[in-house]
This record gives sequence, structure tokens and C-alpha cells, in this order.
Amino acid sequence: MAKIGFLGLGNMGGPMAKNLAKAGHQVTGFDPVAAALDAAKAGGVTPAVTPAAAAKGAEVVITMLPAGQHVKAAYLGAEGLLAGAPKGTLFVDSSTIDVASAKTVHEAAAAAGQHFVDAPVSGGVAGAEGATLTFMCGGSEAAFGQARPLLEKMGKNIIHAGGAGAGQAAKVCNNMILGISMIAISEAFALAEKLGLDPAKLHDISSKSSGSCWAMLNHNPVPGLVPTAAANRDYKPGFGATLMLKDLKLAVEAATGAGASIPLGAEAAQLYNMFVQQGNGALDYSAIYKMVKGA
Ligand code: NAD
Repeated sequence: MAKIGFLGLGNMGGPMAKNLAKAGHQVTGFDPVAAALDAAKAGGVTPAVTPAAAAKGAEVVITMLPAGQHVKAAYLGAEGLLAGAPKGTLFVDSSTIDVASAKTVHEAAAAAGQHFVDAPVSGGVAGAEGATLTFMCGGSEAAFGQARPLLEKMGKNIIHAGGAGAGQAAKVCNNMILGISMIAISEAFALAEKLGLDPAKLHDISSKSSGSCWAMLNHNPVPGLVPTAAANRDYKPGFGATLMLKDLKLAVEAATGAGASIPLGAEAAQLYNMFVQQGNGALDYSAIYKMVKGA
């Protein structure tokens, strides 16, 4: 069983660390929020008082932090994780961050003689709790092979997307599809209602036709059509609109850096920005249907 350091025990990292402990690994965790540390402790994670203390003696260090600046602050510099660990330590960052920051950490890890995998996830808090996450991984075959058995204790689908930053690239592209899809579905169901078409009939037809997509089948924004949808729980997330906006902004940033044209992705980012600015950030991302319908 591996000795694992785990940084970031929030909504996602907390249950992920607990699943590793449940699988018999020796997990030492750190989070600046005392309540997060206490909850992880109750799930079998040994609490540490600093990031360095959590990483000390670990064969593998996993991070699940809010954004790119937190990841760079944790990994880089003389006091960072990469400098503090023995050469050959495996680091896995499962945070959703910008592709450029992920590549920066990959380069620093290689220079420090460490192994690094960018491994963002899909599946949300339910996936983290149930150990059914999808991991999209970027890094060398060797580092991915080392990380895989641990990721399997936290997820169901573990996919090697390619080299440095490929996991983050997959994540932003996937979530851009999801964001655009949700707006498309919202427009279609709002239009259907104006045309006097029963939303249940549209769902019945479209879910079996060429308009069908994952978001419609699993997260239909019209209440009462799909049992798993947040729409049935007053749009309680689920996947929060703030997180969707974060991911769409990352897609726009990545596209700008790569010189790619994403007019619909950019428009989706603007619409989610408007939705969040109107005070809806804590609602599920599917609640944008209400704004689309009202507009
Ligand atoms: P969260 O805010 O609940 O947790 C992040 C935790 O990191 C917080 O508890 C914070 O105190 C801690 N933290 C900050 N700096 C730290 C440091 N230096 N060392 C240790 N801990 C530190 O966020 P979350 O929902 O758990 O999301 C984590 C990441 O996963 C984000 O990048 C997010 O975009 C991504 N993600 C979230 C979801 C979701 O549904 N919540 C789904 C997929 C991906």
C-alpha cells in the first residue's frame, strides 16, 4: 500500500482522499480549512499542519486545488512540493486548471527529476464520493502507468489523453461541449414551449433523434423530464454554474493561446458570465434554462 500526501480536501478532494484511505493506503492530508481537515480525518485521512508535512515521506502526492495559481504556488519555488521531495516522487494534479500552468508544472517537475501527471476529473462530487470519476491524464506513459492503480481507487474511467497538459486540454474541450450543449437544449425547449409543444413530447422525440446528447439525457433543464436532473431539485448542484463559467473561461483562454476559433464557446462563456453576474452562481449550470427562457 502506498504512502500518499493529499493537498486540497474540499468538495472533491475530501471524498477522493477518503476513498484512497478506504482502499488501505496511508493518506496524510492538508487543507487550510479546519473543517475540511476534520471531515477527512473522520474518513481515515491523517491530518497534517502544512503542505510540506503532508508530502513528507510520501511516494505519491496528489493535489486537488481551486485554480492554476494555487497549483503553481503549491508546486513551484524553493519551498514548493517539487523541490521538497526526493527525486522520482510521483505527483498527480487533479485540479481543473489552465493548460499553460499545467505545462509549466510539467516542465518544472522534469527539471527537478520528478514525475508529474495532470489528471483533471469529470463526474462531480457524486463521482468523487462514489469513486466513479473519469480521469483525463497528461504525461509520460511511465508516470501514467504509476498513477493508474491509485486513480482506479477514485474513478471508473482512467484515460491517458497524451503528453504534458493533454488531460487539461481534454477537460476544457469536453466541458466546452457540455456548456454549449446545455444552452442549445435550453433554447430548444424554450422555443418548443413558445410553439405550444409539450416539453415531454420534445424530450421523447429528441432523445431518440439526431438532437439527442448526453446533457439532454442526463441533465435536462426542464423539471420532471429526467430523474437525475438538478431541475427536479430547484437546480441545486450538481455542477455549479460558477464551475461551468470557470471551465468555459479556461476554454477561451486555451483557444486564444492556441490561435483556435471558438465562437460558440466564447458565446457560451459570455452567457454563463451574465447568468453568474445575475446572482445565480450557486445554482446548477442547467438553471441557465431559466435565463434563456426569460430572455
Ligand atoms: P473546493 O473549493 O471545495 O476545494 C478546494 C480546496 O483546496 C479547499 O478546501 C481549499 O481550502 C483548499 N486549498 C486551497 N489552497 C490550498 C493549499 N495550498 N493546500 C491545500 N489545500 C488548499 O473545490 P472543489 O469543488 O473540491 O474543486 C477542486 C478542483 O476540482 C477545482 O479545480 C474544480 O474546478 C475541480 N472540479 C470540481 C468539480 C465539482 O463538481 N466540484 C468537478 C470537476 C472538477
